[in-house]
Amino acid sequence: MTLKDKVCIVTGAARGIGASIAARYIADGARVAIADLDLSAAQETADRLNSLHAGEAIGVAMNVVDELAVDTGVQAVVDHWGRVDVLVSNAGIQTVHKLQDFPFDEWKKLLAIHLDGAFLTSRACMPHMIAQGSGSIILMGSVHSKEASPLKSAYVTAKHGLLGLARVIAKEGAEHGIRSNVICPGFVKTPLVEKQIPEQARTLGISEDEVVNRVMLGNTVDQEFTTVEDVAEIAYLFAAFPTNALTGQSLIVSHGWFME
Ligand code: NAD
Repeated sequence: MTLKDKVCIVTGAARGIGASIAARYIADGARVAIADLDLSAAQETADRLNSLHAGEAIGVAMNVVDELAVDTGVQAVVDHWGRVDVLVSNAGIQTVHKLQDFPFDEWKKLLAIHLDGAFLTSRACMPHMIAQGSGSIILMGSVHSKEASPLKSAYVTAKHGLLGLARVIAKEGAEHGIRSNVICPGFVKTPLVEKQIPEQARTLGISEDEVVNRVMLGNTVDQEFTTVEDVAEIAYLFAAFPTNALTGQSLIVSHGWFME
């Protein structure tokens, strides 16, 4: 398996899991568009990864809930490299509240970033993949695509929804050689998780240590966080796997937090 010369778009890739996936792809010779809200942050990550790996990454400004920005950003990548082989719809946020306190605008914002973002980016990439007769669309799910936790009604709803979207893309895309799969990580120490530790401690009335050791890692087999590199390795597998044999699937990478 190889991603050499493949054109990949990774959303939310200026930092965190997305940046690690981009690094993994670039290290294998892929050409990667780092798509994120802020162009200068995206370009900074692209420059950093290029200097580490002698790569060809570019930064692209893309708010994944903005239809025009998504269509324009994907077109810019196609104009630059002539094709798009891999989409990783990774951009995401987390917001925690008890359901009865969940502000409607925060609910809608979270669902839009995860679900509208996955839909819009997939829709923008698919015509190019159909024309090429191949492509891989990877949606960033979570253990919360399979399991629920208190305070996370919006996130759990969105992450469950992505499983359905990936399965439809797998069915519609098969005749064009387009595969679609979902990665389901456990807790990974990125800014998204760092932010939740004090928030959950406050809302649940427990210490930050308890949030980490009981709420986040309590059900793992070894009390360890999943790493960005672990997730990137699965993203590599889904991107580089050569046939429709691996499609419509979801893979949990969580130190055994959730087993199925
Ligand atoms: P992060 O907060 O470190 O990075 C998220 C990135 O997405 C940021 O660069 C941010 O600017 C970008 N982003 C946010 N809204 C955007 C938008 N509207 N358009 C474009 N970019 C946007 O988060 P992370 O932990 O790296 O999470 C990445 C993905 O992995 C998310 O979908 C998240 O739900 C998922 N995930 C994370 C964990 C975890 O424990 N960290 C676990 C499972 C799944």
